[in-house]
Amino acid sequence: MSEKPKIAFYWCASCGGCEESIVDLAEDILEVAKLVEIVLWPVAMDFKRKDIEALADGEIVATMINGAIRTSEQEEMAHLLRRKSRVLIAYGSCAHTGGIPSLANQFSRSELMKYVYHDAPSVDNPESIEPVSAYQSATLPVFRDVVRSLDQVVSVDYTLPGCAPNPALVLAAVRALLSGDLPPKGSVLAPDVSLCDACPRIGSKPTELSIEAFKRAHLHPIDPDQCLLAQGFACLGPATRSGCGERCIRANMPCTGCFGPLSSVRDQGAKALSALTSAIGADSEDEIDRALDGIPDPVGTFYRYGLAKSMLRRKVDLATTTKN
Ligand code: SF4
Ligand code: SF4
Repeated sequence: MSEKPKIAFYWCASCGGCEESIVDLAEDILEVAKLVEIVLWPVAMDFKRKDIEALADGEIVATMINGAIRTSEQEEMAHLLRRKSRVLIAYGSCAHTGGIPSLANQFSRSELMKYVYHDAPSVDNPESIEPVSAYQSATLPVFRDVVRSLDQVVSVDYTLPGCAPNPALVLAAVRALLSGDLPPKGSVLAPDVSLCDACPRIGSKPTELSIEAFKRAHLHPIDPDQCLLAQGFACLGPATRSGCGERCIRANMPCTGCFGPLSSVRDQGAKALSALTSAIGADSEDEIDRALDGIPDPVGTFYRYGLAKSMLRRKVDLATTTKN
């Protein structure tokens, strides 16, 4: 029997990028593999749910779950892995704050079903069939009314933020886990300062901004040396935790906020909205409206990764909502 500490990876509602980020450890993954026994990793290894059920409670040293929680199966796996794991880590933006899947919280379940199974231009569904959770002897996961972050379903010990978390942070977290040198429970495993504080362009960010119009990054040339916000691009650096290596900024793109809020901030979108609107140089409502025309999708801009954890959280359909 292996004496190595057991670790597990699991994915819920996510795109697969977090799984890629583990593969992105490249040769460092060999260091990790030497030190641990992986007992669950559906994307890469053929373990089953019953293998996890057979383990004693707390037998897994650490489980990293990526993805938000949308279905009953994801809920069940989150509870099972919580019970079997001493440390549970929310891995990536979707587990941390709901991520891009939680943008669906702008719509009720019935609106989503109507669009996806009936109204979308590519749908061919003459019998108006919608998914069911039980058919004859088969059962399928139930599609819940709302997308939730992992900590809205089970207690979470640590969070690795990012879309996806970067390899240096992941490796540091694995080393800390194996050495037992961990910060207090509940910590986000990234620096608690804003991205602006780590940004290579901070020297070109004026103390007082006066933006006349927000610009969309794919429609305008971007100066590679100047602060993106000062150029009029909606950079969420002032409202976002650092630790990513300033990946987007170094690729000449504004930060979209994937590392989530600092610990002192309750609602990242509201903080970002406040930071950006206070940078508008306008004297009248018309000028303010003109400046904001460059942000055609405010929810998708300010809550791209965090609608589930925001104060807005979701749209409620009173006619069909059953729980959550
Ligand atoms: S607003 Fe964006 S580009 Fe400007 S300093 Fe902050 S992170 Fe850097
Ligand atoms: S710059 Fe912003 S959006 Fe890009 S990786 Fe860093 S935190 Fe995420």
